[in-house]
Amino acid sequence: MTTHIQRPATVTARIDDTDTDATTVQSPAVEVSATLLIGDFESECGNCHMPTLIRGVHRHTEIPGLKPKPGCGARFVNTASNSWRVTPDHLRAERPDLPVRGQDTDS
Ligand SMILES: [Zn+2]
Repeated sequence: MTTHIQRPATVTARIDDTDTDATTVQSPAVEVSATLLIGDFESECGNCHMPTLIRGVHRHTEIPGLKPKPGCGARFVNTASNSWRVTPDHLRAERPDLPVRGQDTDS
């Protein structure tokens, strides 16, 4: 009659550790922000550098294309251009709700 000795006393401790880690991972404290890079013909996300829609998007939720794919989810906090032909005035016209990086902010 030795079977009751196999009860593993350490399992409880492991479960407690797992719960603590899960709580930490689920914390929404970290949010990725990105610059909306507006180019001549298409725009990209400053975080993952994949294409993004310009208007009507506050987060990079979709990569447009023949087969749209989910974006990285970063929140657009300002705009910038990767083309010398796109002026700050053009950026403001496209997204009047966002500041132009290096123009309307100190950063
Ligand atoms: Zn992105």
